[in-house]
Amino acid sequence: MALNNDNAPHDVVIIGAGISGMIAANRAAQLGLRVLVLEQGTADKYLCNTRYTGGTFHIGLRDISLDEATLTARILEATAGFVATDLAATVAREGRRVISWLQAEGSRFMRASASEYHKFVLAPPGRSRPGLDWEGRAGDVMLQNLETNLNKRGGRLVRGARGRSLIMEAGRCVGVVAEQGGSAVHYAARAVFIADGGFQGNLDLVRQYICAHPEKLKQRGAGTGRGDGLTMATAVGAALIGTDRFYGHTQSRDALTNDNLWPYPYLDSLVTAGIVVDAQAQRFVDEGRGGVFVANAIAGLDDPLSAQVIFDNTIWEKAGRNGLIAANPHLEKEGATIHRGNTLEALAAAAGLPAQALAQTVAGYNQALAAKTLESGAVTPARQSSKHEACAILQGPFFAVPMVAGITNTMGGIRVNVHAQALRTDGSAIDGLYALGAATGGLEGGPEIGYVGGLVKGGVTALLAAEHLASLKP
Ligand SMILES: Cc1cc2nc3c(=O)[nH]c(=O)nc-3n(C[C@H](O)[C@H](O)[C@H](O)COP(=O)(O)OP(=O)(O)OC[C@H]3O[C@@H](n4cnc5c(N)ncnc54)[C@H](O)[C@@H]3O)c2cc1C
Repeated sequence: MALNNDNAPHDVVIIGAGISGMIAANRAAQLGLRVLVLEQGTADKYLCNTRYTGGTFHIGLRDISLDEATLTARILEATAGFVATDLAATVAREGRRVISWLQAEGSRFMRASASEYHKFVLAPPGRSRPGLDWEGRAGDVMLQNLETNLNKRGGRLVRGARGRSLIMEAGRCVGVVAEQGGSAVHYAARAVFIADGGFQGNLDLVRQYICAHPEKLKQRGAGTGRGDGLTMATAVGAALIGTDRFYGHTQSRDALTNDNLWPYPYLDSLVTAGIVVDAQAQRFVDEGRGGVFVANAIAGLDDPLSAQVIFDNTIWEKAGRNGLIAANPHLEKEGATIHRGNTLEALAAAAGLPAQALAQTVAGYNQALAAKTLESGAVTPARQSSKHEACAILQGPFFAVPMVAGITNTMGGIRVNVHAQALRTDGSAIDGLYALGAATGGLEGGPEIGYVGGLVKGGVTALLAAEHLASLKP
C-alpha cells in the first residue's frame, strides 16, 4: 500500500467534492484545520449532483429564512415525524447560515419566481430549459468558487481518488484508503468526512434497499453516488436509516433515451392533478401526496415501466402549464410520447390500456371527486387533496403519458447526530467519522417520503461537521 505523498498529516480527509464536501473543506480550513478532499472524478468539472443542481435553497419547499419554529414544524410535518426533532431543529436553525456563509464565499443568489420556495436560488439558476444545462450555472459556479477559495486557504482537492475503506484504530476513524492511479493510497487524518452523494448510482444497493428493478429507473442526476460511503461506514459499525426512500420526480418514459426530457420537464403537476394507472388501468398510488411520493411508488411496481398518467384537456391547459419548465408545451416540443383520444375508449386503444378498466377507473374517480369521498375510501387507494387539488377527468381530448421514475438521490444513509457524526446502532458516535449531505440518513424521507432539500442538507451538515471537529482538541 502506498502512503500519501503529503508531508503533513491532515486534520480531515473528505470523500467527495460536491456541495457537502466543498463547504466542509472550506469551513474546516477557515477554522485552521489541514484539509484534503478526495474526488473520484478526474475532469476539471467532475460531474456530481451539485454540478447539475437547480440551485434552490429551501427547507421542505418553504422559505429557508423563516423562523426556526416554523421550519422545524415544516420538516416534522413533511416527514410525518420521521426526522428526529433535534435534527429537524438543527436544519431549521442553520439553513439560513448556509446562505450567508455562501454569500461571503462569493456565491450570488436570486429570486427565481414569486413562489416562497424560489426566494434563494443560486444565480444563474440551473433550471433554464428542457434537458441539462449546468455549465456556468448554479452549482457549477459555486463549486469552482469553492475550489478557488480552498486553494487560497491551503487546502487541496485531489481528483481521480476514490475512497474505498476506512482506517480504524481503537474504535476511532483515523484515515481512509483510496484507489488512485491503480494503487491503494493511505491517507491518515484526525477525521474522515463522507460526502459521496448517496447510493443511487449503485444498482445493487438500490436493489437491496429500494426496489427490485433499479434498471427500470431513470438516473435523474449525475449517477456518481455509488454508495462507497455507506459501504465503508457500515463495515466499521455505522448504522443506516431511511434507505428505502429516494428524492426524485416523475418523468416521461422517453427520458430513458431522450436527453431533452430530463431532469426537466417533469410530470409532477400532471400527476398530482390527474390519475396514475398501471398496465391494467388501475390506480395504485395516492397522487395527492406529490411527485416525489409517486416516483417512489412507481419504482416499487412489479414493472416500473408500466405506469401512465391520465388527464384531460382542462388539466393539460391548467396544471400542465405550472412550473418553470412546464410539461405543456415542453413535453410535446421535445418529442415525448403523448397518447390522445377524443374518448376514453380511443385513448385506451392509443395507450395500450384495457378500455373497460380505464373507463371504470376514471368514472369511479370522477364520481368520488364529485361526492367529495376521494379521501374517505370511495376509491382505492384513497386520494388526499390537502396538498394538491384533485381535478375531474371529463373534458376531451383525453391524454396518457407513459412514465418512468426519475431517481435524483437517495434520501437515507448513514445515521448522524446534530454534529453530523456517524452513529452506531446503539446511538454512540464513531469518533473521527462524519457523514454529510446525501450520504446521511434520518434528515428526510419517512412514511410520507418528505423532501427537506438536498442543498440545505449538504450545507448544514458540512458546516456543523467542520465546526465540531475544530472544537475538539487534537
Ligand atoms: C437536476 C437536479 C436538480 C436539483 N435541484 C435541487 C434544488 O433546486 N434544490 C435542492 O435542494 N436540491 C436539488 N438537487 C439535489 C442536490 O443538488 C443534491 O442533493 C446535492 O447537490 C448533493 O450534494 P452532495 O455533496 O451530498 O453530493 P454530490 O453533489 O453528488 O457530490 C458527491 C461527490 O462525491 C464524489 N464521490 C462519490 N464517491 C466517491 C468516492 N468513493 N471517493 C471520492 N469521491 C467520491 C462524486 O463523484 C461527487 O463529486 C438537485 C439535483 C439534481 C440532479
